Amino acid sequence: MKNVYFDNNATTCVAPEVVEAMLPFLTDYWGNPSSMHHFGGQVGRHVEEARAKVAALINADPSEIVFTSCGTESDNMALVGAAEAAGKGTRIVTTRVEHPAVLSPCRHLKELGYDIVELGVDASGQLDLSALRKAVAAGPCIVSIMWANNETGVIFPIEEIAQIVKGAGGVLHTDAVQAAGKLPIDVATTPIDMLSMSGHKLHAPKGVGILYVRKGTKLKTFMLGGHQESGRRAGTENVPYIVGLGKACELAASSIDEERTRVAALRDRLESGLLASCTDTIVNGAGAPRLPNTTNISFQFIEGEAILYHLSDAGVAASSGSACTSGSLEPSHVIRAMGVPFTSAHGSIRFSLSRYSTEEEVDYVIEHMPPIVAKLRELSPFA
Ligand code: PLP
Repeated sequence: MKNVYFDNNATTCVAPEVVEAMLPFLTDYWGNPSSMHHFGGQVGRHVEEARAKVAALINADPSEIVFTSCGTESDNMALVGAAEAAGKGTRIVTTRVEHPAVLSPCRHLKELGYDIVELGVDASGQLDLSALRKAVAAGPCIVSIMWANNETGVIFPIEEIAQIVKGAGGVLHTDAVQAAGKLPIDVATTPIDMLSMSGHKLHAPKGVGILYVRKGTKLKTFMLGGHQESGRRAGTENVPYIVGLGKACELAASSIDEERTRVAALRDRLESGLLASCTDTIVNGAGAPRLPNTTNISFQFIEGEAILYHLSDAGVAASSGSACTSGSLEPSHVIRAMGVPFTSAHGSIRFSLSRYSTEEEVDYVIEHMPPIVAKLRELSPFA
């Protein structure tokens, strides 16, 4: 049985070069970077080197990079910190297809008296920019719109969004957890105020992330305690993981152009192969610009969970948008927001590739999928 990992939007393997870079900081260099003595000093230098490497990936100034524990923390820090700095009642504009790491703090802020606006998307997962213009026109606001969607890979036009939000005097945060390392990001030319990234989505370990905070952005400190991260995020730095994230960003920066094209070709081969060999299939988000590594395909009339189970039996790891809540299998909020019909929404499967994915793996999935789909359709009351 083969082992094919096509669930890289959930998490990625840690690159061997990243492990190698981290190891000395788990053995010889274990000092606290805040310490005055040389144990701390030698470690602190490596934290700053990592900061510079992360900054280089998005063309930021290193002083604008704040290390956090994950993408979720970065999103919470941006939203809660900016909301507290702006004051109760401030309008916060987001979309219905954000990750829960954005939607949950927004809903929490709503309970605290903030005015939350959630923008919808069309059938291909794209945002109506005129609705955004209207939402930000009322006065100073905070906007949080993701760069790329984790489930469908649909990319939002963040440069255009930034022009609209900044033109209206708003503060813009973007969740770039899925975009970072897969798409070029340049905060020097795109007027974003804050941007979230997560290590484990780009071949660094779980448990480290960053929030980019443009100089001058008003942000109330979210994590209170010591003076680490220039007073912006208390807590002793997770040095090995920070060093690992720096290395992962360096690797991503050096291969992004080549890998974008290569991975997109593999994704397209997978997509067209599955569409040709399985009837009644729809690519969710097909009409929109998408991440090079992601395809979300609905196999109509069958359950995503059942497909995943059989794929897993064949050694293939993918993911479905459904979440098993209170005993019923509900399609994901992203697929629902796109208005995907019931018979398609339940059978949606996300395949997400990485720079380690190969043509052989793609062909293995194309070969193993049709019998799984045929078998499940035989049993389906809807087919
Ligand atoms: N935002 C997006 C778009 C994600 O895909 C994820 C994780 O899947 C997160 C935020 C949360 O990141 P983390 O797992 O590092 O907390």
